[in-house]
Amino acid sequence: MIQMVTEQDKKVFQEEFAGLLPSKIFDSHVHIILKESYSPEWGTEKISYLEKTQWQFTVEQFFSIYKEMLPGIEMSLAGFGGPSMKVDRSHASSFGVNNKNVFGLRLLSAYDSVEEAASDIEKYHLAGVKPYANMALKRENGEGELLDFFTKEQLEYLNKNQLIATIHIPRKMRLEDPCNRTQMKYLCETYPDIKFIFAHIGRAYYKRCAVNYVDEFVQYPNAYWDTAMINHEGVLQYTFDHFPNDRILFGTDAPISFLHGKSVEINNQYVYMSPENFNLGTSLYDDTGKITYVPFLYEQIRSILSLGLSRKTLEDFFYNNAYTLYSRTVERMK
Ligand SMILES: [Zn+2]
Repeated sequence: MIQMVTEQDKKVFQEEFAGLLPSKIFDSHVHIILKESYSPEWGTEKISYLEKTQWQFTVEQFFSIYKEMLPGIEMSLAGFGGPSMKVDRSHASSFGVNNKNVFGLRLLSAYDSVEEAASDIEKYHLAGVKPYANMALKRENGEGELLDFFTKEQLEYLNKNQLIATIHIPRKMRLEDPCNRTQMKYLCETYPDIKFIFAHIGRAYYKRCAVNYVDEFVQYPNAYWDTAMINHEGVLQYTFDHFPNDRILFGTDAPISFLHGKSVEINNQYVYMSPENFNLGTSLYDDTGKITYVPFLYEQIRSILSLGLSRKTLEDFFYNNAYTLYSRTVERMK
C-alpha cells in the first residue's frame, strides 16, 4: 500500500492531538468499498484515490489505517458503499456489520423496490439507507431535486421502521438553495420518525452556506448534521453555536479523508488543495512542494479542537451522539 501516514503526520498527532482526543471515536461517514460489488472492469476506468487502497476499502482497512492515523483511539464506524448505479447495492451491504463497532446503511436508488431494500436491511442488520444524486430518479430537464432520491413507498418504509437516511444534498447551491431547504424541511416534517443525517453540514464547505441556514433546522428533532470533510473553523463554530450539539455527528468520508490536503474557502467557494493528484471534484493539485500537508482528517480534527469545546461536548460529538443514534435504531429493528 502507498504510504498513508508520514513522519510529519505522526509529529502533528503527538504535538496537537494526543491527550486531547477522546479515547473512542465513531466515524459516521465511511465508504466501505468491496471490489466484488462492481463489474470486473472496476478499477481500470479512471484515476481515483482508491488506487491507494487497491481499489477497495474494507472494514479491515478502516481499522488498520486508523490505527496508524489515530494511534491508541478505539474506532467505530457507520459505513455504506460508494454510490453508483453500477454497484450491486445488495452486495455492497455485506461488509460485516456487527452493530457493536461496525454499523451500516444500504445504498438506495429510487429505482430499488422497497422489498429488495428492506430485505437487505434485515439480512445485514442495517440502520437505514444512503441515497445519492447519481441513483435518484432521472429528470429530462433541469437540476435534480432532493425528493428524486426516494419513492414515497421507500420513505414510508423508512419512517415506519424509524430508520436513518444519510443524505448528501444535491444542486450547485447546496444549503443556500431554497428548493433544497424546502424539501429537507418537507422530509423532516412528513416523515418525523426517519432520522435525516445531512452530510457535510449540507455541503457547507464555506461559511456563507452555513450561516443563517443551519438555524432553520433546529426545530426538527430528526435533523442531524455530519461534519465529513468540513475543516472550516467558521462553519463548525457557527454550527456548534446555533444547533443542538447532540445532533452534530463526527464523520470523515473515509477513505478520502486519509488523503493529504485541506479544504479552503475562497470568495464564497471552496477548493480542496492537495499534493496528491487524485480528482476530487473541486480540487487543485499542488505539486510545488512549497507546503507540507497533513491528511484532511487531521485538518478536520484540528478545527474541532480549536473551537474550545468542553471535554463532554467533544466526547459526545466524537462518539456518543452517533453511537446512541445508531445503536437505538438497530435495537428497534431486532
Ligand atoms: Zn461520502
